[in-house]
Amino acid sequence: MTVYMLKPVADSSVDYTAQAQRAVEMLEAAGLRATAHRVMLLSYLNNAGGNNHFSAEAVYDYANRNGNKISLATVYNTLRSFTDVGLLDQVTPDSTRVYFDTNIKPHHHFYNESTGVLEDIDASVMHGVVLPQLPTGTCLKSVELMVRITEKPN
Ligand SMILES: [Zn+2]
Repeated sequence: MTVYMLKPVADSSVDYTAQAQRAVEMLEAAGLRATAHRVMLLSYLNNAGGNNHFSAEAVYDYANRNGNKISLATVYNTLRSFTDVGLLDQVTPDSTRVYFDTNIKPHHHFYNESTGVLEDIDASVMHGVVLPQLPTGTCLKSVELMVRITEKPN
């Protein structure tokens, strides 16, 4: 899992001020106060690209390895607050794993139970799925499929 740091030691091609400003604007647009931790974590996630799945533990490890002291509880609560306002999605492939997903468009997942890796499946390639009749008084909101896979045995 790759989580890019906010301030790499010697990468002059990255405009950190612009990244932080983008994070502040996203937070404000979502109605969240732009605290230092929120700006730092959202900048990490923005730098990591559009379709990545992170555990809170991985983000915590990354932040602390790069000199940003933050507790795991703060990381988890911050990522949950991002999810609450639609900046992230949350994917829970089983009762022991929670991933935060930077791809907030409707999509599906491959979940490799051997490796714990989640991989996006574009929503457009799953059009052949036939849904059962919806219960009376309900309407379809979304369909999210989890295609569970494992490594082939040797
Ligand atoms: Zn995803």
